[in-house]
Amino acid sequence: MMQAGMDESGASALLQAGCGPILPAHDSTVPPLRQQIFECVRSHGQISRIDVAKHLSVSPASVTTIVSDLIAGGLLKEVEAPRDPGSRGRPPVALAVRPEAGYVVGIKLSDLVHTGVIIDFAGRPVAEARLHRPSLRTEVDLLVEEADELLTRMLAEAGMDRSAISAVGLGLPGIVDHFRGLILWSPILRGLEIPIARMMSERMGLPVQVDNDANVLTLAELWYGAGRRLPDFAVVTQEYGVGMGLVMNHRLYRGANSVGMELGHTKVQLDGALCRCGQRGCLEAYVSDYALVREASVALDLHRTESGSAQVILESLYDQAKAGNEAARTIFRRAGRFLAAGLANVINLFDPSLVILSGARMRYDYLYAEDVLKEVRELTLNKGRKLPRVEINAWGDLVWARGAATLALSAVTDARTSAEVVE
Ligand SMILES: [Zn+2]
Repeated sequence: MMQAGMDESGASALLQAGCGPILPAHDSTVPPLRQQIFECVRSHGQISRIDVAKHLSVSPASVTTIVSDLIAGGLLKEVEAPRDPGSRGRPPVALAVRPEAGYVVGIKLSDLVHTGVIIDFAGRPVAEARLHRPSLRTEVDLLVEEADELLTRMLAEAGMDRSAISAVGLGLPGIVDHFRGLILWSPILRGLEIPIARMMSERMGLPVQVDNDANVLTLAELWYGAGRRLPDFAVVTQEYGVGMGLVMNHRLYRGANSVGMELGHTKVQLDGALCRCGQRGCLEAYVSDYALVREASVALDLHRTESGSAQVILESLYDQAKAGNEAARTIFRRAGRFLAAGLANVINLFDPSLVILSGARMRYDYLYAEDVLKEVRELTLNKGRKLPRVEINAWGDLVWARGAATLALSAVTDARTSAEVVE
């Protein structure tokens, strides 16, 4: 049977063209062996040559050749492995990353406080800094200046020169085109389509990678957290808005336009509440800060004044809910029900093994109370399937910056390990 819209010549052209997915000549999802070996060592911390060969299912001889090259290049080193109790003779030799092979910076830009870390080549933090700022939507020039100030502070703390840094990773809220280094829109910035990676790079004199803050947090979970061993998991963040990052087959999913997953703007109510994106019925319009503040202003007569920021109103709403104010409780409970619908949609769509809830607002425990999680279970298709774990991430605020740093570390690692070995 012919499909609608397909004529006979179209059908035969399809037949002649073969079948099966047409993959690019170089499959970028499979890194060169040299990079695989390096990443195997970094992910294990310490591992012997023979275990690397077993882990990657390659011959010990090819591991030995490439490892010699990585050691000569200053990326790996030999270390004494822990000896089995009771064993004699020479201590076994393992491989580890040379931490001083390179340093990268991660910066998370936000409406109230910017955070930053410097990490070494083994991914360990060596310096950190915070920069508090007024909660205002700002011009990009000022944001670039603040990020550079944060970098200068970190370098001073670490006693390092700027020339020791290989790259910078940047995470911030909004719609970010990672590949083009553009901020299409951000709640903390004035203007649209801002080439922030280029601007930061010119100011700092370093290569800069940029991504959405939910994606950098997901990278942190993938590199350091609960997601290290999981092929598929989702991270849902609640900060200024509702963000999401998704890992599929151990990789961050970026989508065709690399703007990632806008869970906050999926619709939970047709013709519903007005969202700041201009559309109606978005999840964010029910659960984000500004949605809660909007409700609080009406129900509790809390008004945003010069001194009363959204943060102050939210805190007051939370305190009143804790103290038993029924109107305040209802606002959080309603937001929790919409969040439950959003989480159930994520589970129905992607079937992840774990959903991690993260972000500063997660301390409003009404949003993940037992009845919210019960609602998630009720809204998820559960016929014969195991529901994923839902975990609350209680990491400190520096985790975002560490995730941003892995953006830079990945790029530098790719560049420094992808060169083929000359034999
Ligand atoms: Zn929206």
